[in-house]
Amino acid sequence: AKELGGDNYKFYTHAMREQLGERVQMESALRQALERHEFVLYYQPQVDIGSGRIVGMEALIRWQHPEMGMVAPGRFIPVAEETGMILQMGAWVLRSACQQLRTWQCEGRRHLRVAVNVSARQMAERDFVGSVADVLTEAGLSPDCLELELTESLVMNDVEHAIAVMHQLKKLGVKLAIDDFGTGYSSLAHLKRFTVDVLKIDQAFVRDLTVDPDDAAIVTTIIALAANLNLEVISEGVETLDQLSFLREHGCYQMQGYYFSRPVPATVFGAVLDENEAR
Ligand code: C2E
Ligand code: CA
Ligand code: CA
Ligand code: CA
Repeated sequence: AKELGGDNYKFYTHAMREQLGERVQMESALRQALERHEFVLYYQPQVDIGSGRIVGMEALIRWQHPEMGMVAPGRFIPVAEETGMILQMGAWVLRSACQQLRTWQCEGRRHLRVAVNVSARQMAERDFVGSVADVLTEAGLSPDCLELELTESLVMNDVEHAIAVMHQLKKLGVKLAIDDFGTGYSSLAHLKRFTVDVLKIDQAFVRDLTVDPDDAAIVTTIIALAANLNLEVISEGVETLDQLSFLREHGCYQMQGYYFSRPVPATVFGAVLDENEAR
């Protein structure tokens, strides 16, 4: 048993060292990626199914790695969060998304808004609100064209601070959405104090919506909650007509998902918009 303990100890320190090494490597890789402009934003349409129109889009980061190819955010966002690199990445995402929206608006697409994911570290940053205001001014965008997607866990990190920042963002005029709604730990009592405009139903509940009565119950409850609190509601991860029909029947008219379009680069998104407008 003693020997085994010794081996385990060795094993763990080795594994931990590996992990630490990987993290340090990843951190410098991410820093280089920023400097070398290897990050790109993809855009996924948000559709109002009442009118059939694209009303906005979510900006989703990708890493165009010279050897690894296109890397999904799930592979690097967690490390970026841990190392603090998310601050510079997040600032880049916000600026790029706003500039891109401005470009589309100047082409005559005035009604569009852009949704940007915000991490806990960014919210906690000193004068995050000031930096958002600067980005909007610099891009020449009206604040109500920008929607910030916050997660419940982000907000729960430090509820009082988050609520204070949300109030300031509200005052600035940007829209706020709770992302992955229902998967986090926030209570309804907190929700009452959050100055959010939109609840975003997580795709985990949408996936089996038409076959799992529990998921159906959760989704209809979130839609009803949003209606009663006078909030907008949007579903992510809509892949099938059956899911769309269920959501529409239960009063959710804003949707996002592969059924409409996968996230695409800005150049392709222009064509997606043209096609939508031609319908
Ligand atoms: P999220 O914010 O919940 O974004 C939705 C994810 O679902 C995206 O994955 C999107 O590509 C994917 N998706 C969209 N429609 C469908 C569908 O119909 N079916 C399925 N199965 N998936 C769909 P993605 O782009 O890989 O992003 C993963 C997560 O990474 C995001 O989850 C978000 O938490 C994070 N992320 C992405 N970009 C950023 C960013 O710029 N900043 C921060 N802080 N996080 C980001
Ligand atoms: Ca999101
Ligand atoms: Ca989600
Ligand atoms: Ca509470």
